[in-house]
Amino acid sequence: RLVIDGVVKQFGGHTALADVSLDVQPGEFMTLLGPSGSGKSTTLNLVSGFAQPDEGTVRIDGVDMASVPPRRRNVGMVFQNYALFPHLTIEANIAFPLRQRRVPRPEQARRVAEALGTVRLEGYGQRYPAQLSGGQQQRVALARAIVFRPGLLLMDEPLGALDRGLRESMQSEIRRIHREAGSTVLFVTHDQEEALALSDRIAVFHEGRIEQVGTGHELYLHPASTFVAGFLGEST
Ligand code: ATP
Ligand code: MG
Repeated sequence: RLVIDGVVKQFGGHTALADVSLDVQPGEFMTLLGPSGSGKSTTLNLVSGFAQPDEGTVRIDGVDMASVPPRRRNVGMVFQNYALFPHLTIEANIAFPLRQRRVPRPEQARRVAEALGTVRLEGYGQRYPAQLSGGQQQRVALARAIVFRPGLLLMDEPLGALDRGLRESMQSEIRRIHREAGSTVLFVTHDQEEALALSDRIAVFHEGRIEQVGTGHELYLHPASTFVAGFLGEST
């Protein structure tokens, strides 16, 4: 279980997160939905350990993450900008978290092949990131995040660069991964249709705060503010 409690994060004089608290149940698919600049990526970075909160705590299964480095958190992350290693092949990119965790070689190869299959990139293992399209690179980033079977999977707009058809098929892949792995998911999007299609619950972000948390149904029927009503009503 992931518990974010009273988190504040500032950059220079700018408040990215004013006061964010969120309780995510084990196995839950939670989506952070909100406009650009509302603090979604910052929240994921605090959970993954790439940034530290100025105030408040992030706890995973009761353990305060303040002194736990990223690679010890059992958290997989798909970054908004893919963040692949340009000098490594696709296979080596995906194997990276397994090498970090000292998984034996034959096991690495098996899991990398399986992850490539999951994101439908069989046959691309020997290429380099620059030789793939944006959407293919995004799928490699997804494969790298799931390959070590993290208990908590963070995804920052992982489908942003995909066309509609691929986006829908990757949505069902993500649902399948979530169902089969039983991992907890924190998923970021600014697309409310995608949020509704995937999530158990949705947290609506606005200017560094969470305006409301609930099922899509609850948010539609009982929006807590005009912002929530307006944001869900918009179509992209
Ligand atoms: P988007 O949908 O555009 O990705 P977001 O909701 O993910 O937006 P964040 O990236 O969390 O937004 O940014 C929240 C605020 O914090 C923004 O105003 C942003 O400019 C600021 N911010 C984020 N990271 C940094 C940083 N490293 N240095 C300075 N300001 C930052
Ligand atoms: Mg972002």
